[in-house]
Amino acid sequence: MKKIALLGSTGSIGTQTLEIVREQKDLAVVALAAGRNAALLEEQVREFKPQIAVLWEESAAADLRERVRDLPVTVLSGMEGLLEVAVMPQAEILVTAIVGMLGIRPTIAAIEAGKTIALANKETLVTAGHIIMPLARERNAPIVPVDSEHSAIFQSLNGERGNKINKILLTASGGPFRGKKRTELGQIRAEDALKHPNWSMGRKITIDSATMVNKGLEVMEARWLFDVGLEQIQVVVHPQSVIHSMVEYEDGAVIAQLGMPDMRLPIQYALYYPRRRSLSGRRLDFYQLASLTFEEPDLDTFQGLGLAFTAMERGGNIPTAYNAANEKAVSLFLGGRIPFLQIPEIIQACMEHCVYEQDPDVGKILETEAEVYAFIESRW
Ligand code: NDP
Repeated sequence: MKKIALLGSTGSIGTQTLEIVREQKDLAVVALAAGRNAALLEEQVREFKPQIAVLWEESAAADLRERVRDLPVTVLSGMEGLLEVAVMPQAEILVTAIVGMLGIRPTIAAIEAGKTIALANKETLVTAGHIIMPLARERNAPIVPVDSEHSAIFQSLNGERGNKINKILLTASGGPFRGKKRTELGQIRAEDALKHPNWSMGRKITIDSATMVNKGLEVMEARWLFDVGLEQIQVVVHPQSVIHSMVEYEDGAVIAQLGMPDMRLPIQYALYYPRRRSLSGRRLDFYQLASLTFEEPDLDTFQGLGLAFTAMERGGNIPTAYNAANEKAVSLFLGGRIPFLQIPEIIQACMEHCVYEQDPDVGKILETEAEVYAFIESRW
């Protein structure tokens, strides 16, 4: 039995991870953590029987404690609970599928405890890649990406150790507003932006796909995961989401990973790496695939993508400002308080307002996040 601990078990990635546990019979869940969804976590605790369950909010944890008092499970709360899950001696793999910078500290703790990290929580690398990656190398802790594009790149690098990469071709579906001009996006409502053409995901990341900020975050994630220069990362819009990303080597050969848009595949790949396993679900039918098309991203309409390159070029705590500003702006947009096009405007204003810090530690990263939130609250 391979033992996993799962942060973010009630979310989109979390529930799909548990679908894999259900399908494969040799994975055991030793810990589950979520934010406040006590009802779903109770169901998961009853089904998967972890030793520890965590809810961020103490009131929700108290509710869960009451609900599962007939079971031998310890219910914890807050960062203390997440850290306990991260370093649990029984777990081999920590799946980090919570949203936001909250993932940084548990990821660091898990690396220090010698765990394999199946990483979905991209914000961790975007904001603290300069801390996480050197630490993982020093501790020899594998970080296996769960994000489908990064998993595709990871798979395209298999067997190529020592071969020089020319560039990484990061594919993007273009989201629901691909082909639209900026002037057409003024009146976009949350319901429109939440309709992703290919992928079914959590609300925040679906809006990030509509603004292409998600691709910006992925550019930064790729830069850290694969240790390449920004100039070696090229975003290619590929609306069919069949090619999940590619690597071009110095001889011009391009290796790609293709598949159905199904997050269970990269999740399962991360859980069993380097082995592959059978997985239920539809397969690509090349007779049915009419065509695969490719476009350049429209940086004028999707300004959030260009801003990600600027944030990464500046480095230090500016990617944190980018990420924190986006998180807050998306939540304002979902709450109907700002229009769609104001999301990149807020990101840019926050990047400009941020006091630059070249080599921020975790404390400084979290301080930058708080400063960005305060700045946004004072202005929007
Ligand atoms: P969801 O919003 O669907 O789920 C978020 C999860 O995090 C939930 O379990 C939520 O619990 C939990 N959570 C929220 N706040 C806290 C907290 N304070 N403490 C502990 N747990 C908390 O997100 P996704 O699954 O879509 O995304 C998760 C991460 O994976 C993100 O970083 C995203 O960028 C990344 N990712 C997602 C992909 C996808 O297809 N969805 C693809 C690639 C990457 P609760 O339900 O109780 O609020």
